[in-house]
Amino acid sequence: MSFRVNQDRLGFELDRFARIGASSEGGVARLAFSPEEREALGQMESLLKAEGLATRRDAIGNLFGRREGAAPGLPALRVGSHLDTVPDGGRFDGALGVIAGLEVVRVLREQGIQTRHPIEVVAFVGEEAARFGMGCLGSRATVGTLNLPRLLAARDLRGISGAEALRQAGLAPEALPSAAQKPREIAAFLELHIEQGRVLEAAQKAIGIVTDVANYTRLHVEVIGRADHSGTTPMPLRRDALAAASEMVLAVEETVTALGQAPSVGTVGVLRVDPGAVNVIPGRAAFEVDVRDIDFDRKARIAQRIQERIAAIAERRGVEVQVAIPSDGHPVPLSATVVETIQKTCEDLDIPAQKMVSGAGHDAMHIAPFAPAGMIFVPSREGRSHSRLEWTDLADLVPGVEVLLETLLQLDKKTTDH
Ligand SMILES: [Zn+2]
Repeated sequence: MSFRVNQDRLGFELDRFARIGASSEGGVARLAFSPEEREALGQMESLLKAEGLATRRDAIGNLFGRREGAAPGLPALRVGSHLDTVPDGGRFDGALGVIAGLEVVRVLREQGIQTRHPIEVVAFVGEEAARFGMGCLGSRATVGTLNLPRLLAARDLRGISGAEALRQAGLAPEALPSAAQKPREIAAFLELHIEQGRVLEAAQKAIGIVTDVANYTRLHVEVIGRADHSGTTPMPLRRDALAAASEMVLAVEETVTALGQAPSVGTVGVLRVDPGAVNVIPGRAAFEVDVRDIDFDRKARIAQRIQERIAAIAERRGVEVQVAIPSDGHPVPLSATVVETIQKTCEDLDIPAQKMVSGAGHDAMHIAPFAPAGMIFVPSREGRSHSRLEWTDLADLVPGVEVLLETLLQLDKKTTDH
């Protein structure tokens, strides 16, 4: 079976969007609600309009392009992802899924295919948590699960609040609740994304069919010891917050390794030391723990055990410890119907595929409790992502877009009342 997706056209569009917010070193920076994200949304809107789609923006700035279906009154089959990036990010994370949506509607027009359901290409805003510490802002707004007061009050590194950033992007913060939609407006949502890991590359599979999206528990740990002179305080008299925190960081690694199974992971990626001087014993150390799993109970057991270990280390070393849990999310299973449809499509197209779990969060996980949602992964070279080194060869992207297109057509044939 020959592919209908146009590889050159796909490459041309990826290049076009990689130039928006490009750095001289080859990275891309389009932060949530930034002028660069706005420019990318504007360009995508023009391209969708040129394909004859009716476009609209909602109150948080999400872009929708709609191609009407033949059967009146059916909910839309949605396809897309996000156009924002982390600072110095890559050209595929997010953009691929939206550009793939554009390619799908281009193929439908070329081939004269009329679907029963309307097809909507969507670009959700603010998927990356890099600017305000909260991610998937646009997709969560559409399903009414965005914590609005928290977003409006959050501040970026320059001290700009979420409310100010929205206004700078031409949006009215007070109108945000109106972005929430109704489940009956969506027949299904499909997101094509790079894997951002090494599973597919190692298994030499072209496609990953995502069955579940792991969610995280975050622990914020504050260790309080005593800042003393590093020259005059004998070792037995010290209450060194950093030495205690170091032992706790290793305990996180040991605990996850001992209690977890394949999808369980635990990481400490942030550590702050106070006062941070070469001749002062650290009086305070704060670190963040990120535990992820697709099994909520196992994740809870791991988090519980980590807290016990931290408390024991603090007691033995005579330091105080405070643990806060700012996030404790439930893992999200994706739609079994959509998973089966993607799998059948890969078999029909003779594309090597495997089912897998997503360790990273995505827009699709927020849509999933609301409407049938599925994700298709393509391999990432060396698993690099959130980096300018992110790469997938064009020839490896094409099967992903083809599977996306065919899955959409298969879902269109099924009755999708939910
Ligand atoms: Zn992404």
